[in-house]
Amino acid sequence: MKTVGIFGGGQLGSMLTQSIFKLGGNVCIYDESKNSVCSRQVAKFYQGSYHDETCLQNFNSNCDVLTYEFENIPYSTIFKFNHKAIPEATILKICQNRIYEKQFLKKHNLPIVRHIIIENEHNLEEQLSSFTFPLILKSAKGGYDGKSQYIFNGEAEFKSLATQIISNHEFFPAVAEEKILLTKEVSCIIAQTQDGNIINFPIIENIHLDNILDYSICPARINTDLSKALIHYSTQIVKAFNLIGLIVIEFFLSSTSPNSDLSLENTNIFINEIAPRPHNSGHLTIKAFNLSQFDVLARILLNMPCNHPELILSGSTCMINIFGESFLNNPNGNLNFHNCALSKNLIDLNIYGKAPAKPGRKMGHLTVNDIDAISAIELAKNLKASLCQ
Ligand code: ADP
Ligand code: MG
Repeated sequence: MKTVGIFGGGQLGSMLTQSIFKLGGNVCIYDESKNSVCSRQVAKFYQGSYHDETCLQNFNSNCDVLTYEFENIPYSTIFKFNHKAIPEATILKICQNRIYEKQFLKKHNLPIVRHIIIENEHNLEEQLSSFTFPLILKSAKGGYDGKSQYIFNGEAEFKSLATQIISNHEFFPAVAEEKILLTKEVSCIIAQTQDGNIINFPIIENIHLDNILDYSICPARINTDLSKALIHYSTQIVKAFNLIGLIVIEFFLSSTSPNSDLSLENTNIFINEIAPRPHNSGHLTIKAFNLSQFDVLARILLNMPCNHPELILSGSTCMINIFGESFLNNPNGNLNFHNCALSKNLIDLNIYGKAPAKPGRKMGHLTVNDIDAISAIELAKNLKASLCQ
């Protein structure tokens, strides 16, 4: 059986590992930290920097195929082993840099938020003066979970932070994006197998808090026409990339007027970003579908065929993230699983085993299924709250 090498040993790598194991595959993990989530469960674990030639060569020589569970891995590291990489390195290069990503989407006539590119810190104020507030300034590389971003609702807010930003040389190049009024955020998980079959999950709805994913709901509360348009855009991206592998596309939906519904005619669609890997919003696919996002990628990595994933639960499924706060808010730093353990509607609970708990750090998630979205969201929130009672 084949051995899959995964760069990055976090929770996404861990869930992917389980799907590969189920198909009889072997897994090697490469991570800079020896305490990553996967270090608890994988036989072959390589700890080294992403520039450590010897360790990388050792890892590579033990793997038949390579993938990555996050995009902040040096492109050159993946490029070195590109004949084994899924998705291939050029896709990573585009997705790990917001400037390249926007240029790629623009080139393919795909809809993106109005923005300007800020190459460096020189004359930052002047560069921004041609743009309108409110805006979000995002570092081109390295950001995740809302990190490396500044939101400026007006010029005064910008001025108060300008000196600090300009002195942070690592932050540039960057993009300044119009901060739009979001009616909804959704994502599309889409993949192409090695034999050219394009498969997608239904659209998932995502609710963010402080720019971090709080919870996801499937099916998304949008109509069929809009959903088809989003899947169409996602398919165009797969084709433009010539993708083999799995990617996840994050969309912003904005109604054209405050009172209009989210019908296709009344909705502005924007592609926010593309993740060349499984995604936090897809955790609910583990129990709500016959094949999860990790199962689909595992099949592609092991060069197996794959059908369209089928939703196997009726009603609505909600996945909610458990952050460091849940641990920190407990007097003893542990979670109280009593209510979760007794809930008939809890279909998944996954605590990643990370330490230390920090505010905003993703420490686990739980998934529930209920008759409709409102009930599923309420139950997910209540069960999460009960973890620290
Ligand atoms: P990350 O890589 O951290 O996920 P994103 O660009 O997806 O970065 O931004 C995180 C969140 O911030 C988005 O999901 C959205 O809620 C909010 N956000 C980002 N860009 C914009 C924008 N241009 N207008 C309004 N909200 C935005
Ligand atoms: Mg995002």
